[in-house]
Amino acid sequence: MLKQKIECEYVAMNEVDWQPLPEGFIRGGGRWKLLHVSPEVGSWTGLFAVSKGASVASHIHVGPGEYFLTRGKLEVRGGAEEGGVTATAPCYGYEASGARHDQTLILEDIEIYLTFQGPIQLIDGEGNTVGVMAWQQAPALWAEQTHQR
Ligand code: ZN
Repeated sequence: MLKQKIECEYVAMNEVDWQPLPEGFIRGGGRWKLLHVSPEVGSWTGLFAVSKGASVASHIHVGPGEYFLTRGKLEVRGGAEEGGVTATAPCYGYEASGARHDQTLILEDIEIYLTFQGPIQLIDGEGNTVGVMAWQQAPALWAEQTHQR
């Protein structure tokens, strides 16, 4: 069965409840709202809120990602002092396909809008794949959390 083309999507974000992010994705407390999935290009978009002191599990951006940090502060790739980025709201960022992020630390409570053009590959310390979050997994998790199955 062919899916109908989506002409547009509209999400009143305050009417969507936050759902917890799995510990395998965020260590130390995070929530998300899935906003959109585009199977035709393999992209997905979400709003994420993560607490100060939390960290994002090591990952590789299999496709590029873009973000708009609307609130807070975080360090990517160890932060500016380590050759990475210290992102302070309001700011925009782009991560190239293949970018590897071993150290993403939340310095102040953040809220961030993210679009991923492809999967996020979660890796362990040796670079082995331990999980994947892509346009297939994100809506499946969302449906499970919001009981939309
Ligand atoms: Zn990243």
